[in-house]
Amino acid sequence: MGLESVMAENCKYLIRNTTAYVGSDFEKIKGTNLLIENGRIKKIGSKIRAPKDVEIIDGRDFFVTPGFVNAHFHPNQQINRALGVGISHDKQMDLLHATDKIKKSKDKETMSYVSVLEGLRAGTTCFQSVGSEIDYQFPVYHKMGVRAACVMISKDIIANNKKKEVRAQVWDPQERIDMAEKQHKENHSDLVRVHFGAVNVRYSSDELIKGMLSLAEKYDVHFHMHAAEGDEYVASVRERTGSSPVEHLHSIGALNRRVSLAHMTKLTDSEMGYLAKSGAHVVNCPRANAYVKVGLCPVKELLEAGVNVCLGSDAAINNNSNDVRGEAHAIHDAISFKHDYLIDYKTLFSMLTINGAKAIGLDKEIGTIEEGKRADIVLWDKNDTPFVPGFDYLADIIFTDGVRAHTVMIDGKLVVKEYRLVSMDERKILQDARGIAKRYKRAFDDYVAHHI
Ligand SMILES: [Zn+2]
Repeated sequence: MGLESVMAENCKYLIRNTTAYVGSDFEKIKGTNLLIENGRIKKIGSKIRAPKDVEIIDGRDFFVTPGFVNAHFHPNQQINRALGVGISHDKQMDLLHATDKIKKSKDKETMSYVSVLEGLRAGTTCFQSVGSEIDYQFPVYHKMGVRAACVMISKDIIANNKKKEVRAQVWDPQERIDMAEKQHKENHSDLVRVHFGAVNVRYSSDELIKGMLSLAEKYDVHFHMHAAEGDEYVASVRERTGSSPVEHLHSIGALNRRVSLAHMTKLTDSEMGYLAKSGAHVVNCPRANAYVKVGLCPVKELLEAGVNVCLGSDAAINNNSNDVRGEAHAIHDAISFKHDYLIDYKTLFSMLTINGAKAIGLDKEIGTIEEGKRADIVLWDKNDTPFVPGFDYLADIIFTDGVRAHTVMIDGKLVVKEYRLVSMDERKILQDARGIAKRYKRAFDDYVAHHI
């Protein structure tokens, strides 16, 4: 099959005689068929007549699940993966900020292809993709054919505790608000969405947070930021505002169903109450939180309070992985270690799929396999080692290493087929990225030697 036919607008597929996990309770249905047309799951059933011009996919050796939503993801930090292992994360971030100017926008784009590819291969079909700049992200998701909600996260408060040369850039809040609106108007589409956000409550002013949130309301999209990431962060917000981060967001009217907050490792009972009442969402990133030593998100308590909790891989610099699936495994183990309580694996599967879709406002479109929803689905090969003996495939996906997506379909188009990216030349992406990494490392070492 040529690239043109793979990416053709109106491809139709009939996945025949397969096993599918259908609906919000992931009911396992054997011997079923899925008809995909105009980007959507048109029909699910044991008897579907093949329409004209349909491509048949023999589904006997596969099971089909909804694709995963990685609800907090920094694609361009791929370039700093494992650069500085053995030094503190704080120091790693200082170096990342100090060397940001030596990364060209094209370098960030090229490295982003690699991190998105890594997520795709592990079954991710949608990314909430953050960065202080996001223009380079749009071509990545468009060319790969991958769903994303891109969020520009800006700072407008200077980190006075840092030396000038390692401080992250700060901007004028109104300038960034205007820029975000322009980006939305020029780039927002169904597949590659432009949402709004700020970096966090520590380094983003109320003016910036409220301005971005009002744009989310104006354009009927969602808002995203980091919050309550460890004791130092909470203490610094308390010093500036007199409140803890979620209390502060509550007091300025910045908690509602459009808002998702990443990390959230330090929360009081009353803050969890504000989250539940407002409908705000929590994106838990357990492996990054462990790496950075900021504590464990109280997932059990949040779920009990009725808060929507989903998962994010955060960044390659503090996780080393872009595979959100591994976050479900990590939070399961962390909770069982801390509480002697086993979180139900179907709840984990919801956190990987429909809960992530809810956090970015796409739960009516993606996150489950249902007729009428977008066809963002993954075919897993039953004969791959993680799925043998295969007594419970959903548990295998979460708890087994080496899980690989055989086929990934996004918006009804094939993006990965037989483990290979088909929307772009995968080999070229990886070779280009290697070239950039080499150049960047030389410039990085030189900069650190002369400036830090
Ligand atoms: Zn982050």
